[in-house]
Amino acid sequence: MVGDPKTLHDLARVDGAVHVQCRVCGHVELKDREEMIRGRLFHRLSCDWEVVCRSQRCGSPKCDSADVRVSVAPYSQDMDVLKRRRGAMITIGLALHILHRSSYSATQAGIPVEAVRLVLRALHPFVGDRSLLERYWELYSRERAPHETLTLPFGWIVQRLVARGYSVPGEMRTG
Ligand SMILES: [Zn+2]
Repeated sequence: MVGDPKTLHDLARVDGAVHVQCRVCGHVELKDREEMIRGRLFHRLSCDWEVVCRSQRCGSPKCDSADVRVSVAPYSQDMDVLKRRRGAMITIGLALHILHRSSYSATQAGIPVEAVRLVLRALHPFVGDRSLLERYWELYSRERAPHETLTLPFGWIVQRLVARGYSVPGEMRTG
């Protein structure tokens, strides 16, 4: 790529990460582009590259300086953490889509029971709280009235994921 990207979306073409280095304490943080775009769109923030650069702060909680250098780092082998995070984001997104559908009794019939069990298992490492998943399963496997939904236990799982720092698709946050 020649020069800086115009918007965060331009980074899609180089498949890189956003590299934020603090000029005060030297702390370096690598941010996943997809996660950044999703977060900024959710909060209705601009994805314009100059705006993105100006709004970055040092990733060290002790420092939090706004004097940072923002650049694009192409993906490399030492970015396993980011790759794992990207993988987690995809798994969580897909799992929540199925779980959300299963929370409405009208669409429940179209989803195999095994799919819901698989989804709850897949979410476990990220949710980290078995009781929330067991509660969902317990309510899911009961007889339900046609109007009865599981949006409440679904919302608890989403809240827990957000509280643990995982990126959740915006439309899922309302439960
Ligand atoms: Zn710093």
